[in-house]
Amino acid sequence: MNIILFGLPGAGKGTQGNILAKVFNLYKISTGDLLRDEINKKGVLVNKIKTVIDKGLLVSDDIINNLVENVLSNKSYYNRLIFDGYPRTMNQAKYLDVLVKKYNQKISYVFNLKVNKDSIIKRFLGRQVCSKCGLIFNEFYYPSTNENHLCDPKFLQKRSDDNEETVRKRFDMYAKETSPILNYYRDQNLLHEVDALIDISLISKEIRRIIHPLET
Ligand code: AMP
Repeated sequence: MNIILFGLPGAGKGTQGNILAKVFNLYKISTGDLLRDEINKKGVLVNKIKTVIDKGLLVSDDIINNLVENVLSNKSYYNRLIFDGYPRTMNQAKYLDVLVKKYNQKISYVFNLKVNKDSIIKRFLGRQVCSKCGLIFNEFYYPSTNENHLCDPKFLQKRSDDNEETVRKRFDMYAKETSPILNYYRDQNLLHEVDALIDISLISKEIRRIIHPLET
């Protein structure tokens, strides 16, 4: 099965994606992470990408579709992907359909992690990502400790686009470009709405219940 996770920036797509990947032995693909990798590798696209990300705007569909095709065409991920942060425009959603057909795969579940803007702004301001293992923490709500994190705390990093001004712009882009795609999946009976303001473990339990009705 392939899964798509929707939700405002900060809704917890990365965190839930990591949990689902572990539980169902899937691979989480975050287009944001792929773009940040390009920036860190100082690849040819670095200038084009970094300015756009730091302004809270969307990177061009061509760049994104290309990155995603590289992943979808990889046989080791065949029908075992969780998309976090993709598709983000209707054009990307339609292109994903083309790719899924081309590589003989299927979208099985689409989840919308529902939150409201005001309650999640603090999630951004406290968000820390481990540059070594990819785990996501929050200095206010879910700090890294010896129990939940094996890497040295020096690897914990803030994202350059997690500041209030950029975050507000990212919310605007979500409302304008990404929200309309939800109807596209609703019409195909693939969309499941999940309350994502509750505890991380309860959100994941609800998602697992939908994917796997026998699991509670
Ligand atoms: P994220 O890590 O998903 O919050 O993404 C961080 C930033 O990367 C976004 O604010 C966009 O600038 C860019 N980005 C990530 N995924 C996409 C996408 N599917 N389409 C366009 N831009 C993207």
